[in-house]
Amino acid sequence: MTLQSQIKYCRNCGTAVAYRVPDDGDVRERAVCPACNTIHYENPLNVVGTVPFLDDKVLLCKRNIEPRWGKWTLPAGFMELGETTAQGAARETDEEAGAQIEMQSLFTVLSVPRVGQVHMFYLARLLSDKFAPGHETIEARLFTEAEIPWDEIAFRTVKETLEQYFADRRAGSFGVHNIDIA
Ligand code: ZN
Repeated sequence: MTLQSQIKYCRNCGTAVAYRVPDDGDVRERAVCPACNTIHYENPLNVVGTVPFLDDKVLLCKRNIEPRWGKWTLPAGFMELGETTAQGAARETDEEAGAQIEMQSLFTVLSVPRVGQVHMFYLARLLSDKFAPGHETIEARLFTEAEIPWDEIAFRTVKETLEQYFADRRAGSFGVHNIDIA
């Protein structure tokens, strides 16, 4: 069965769909409407965010929403229609932290096939240490590497990105990293 399999009714006519391999040469099961034959494709979602940094510190947000309420994360969220990855990352940083940033280069691309997601984080230079977190954030604050609450990080993609950030910082050179989360 497919990973998501969340479609119950046809978006075109409202009939209950059935998961089966369509008759068009496809090899995967899809949500197919038995009434109007519409095939509903399900594909991975994009999550975009930033690594906001200032000197030797990075900005983390304490989540005020589920899942992982109370855990720390980098500002990130689902991409919206009509925006680029960098625009989405900047928007999430504004919404979750109210941080003033200068967007920089793409830093990590993380595939999470288990949940059907691709996460992308951009480097973002903080222009100020004043933050105005939105309703999704309990607290936004700066952490040095030694201060990072590693056991309280909300998501594996965030932990991997932070580890890579401090490794690159020590090496004195930031690359673009493609990481698969098994
Ligand atoms: Zn239908």
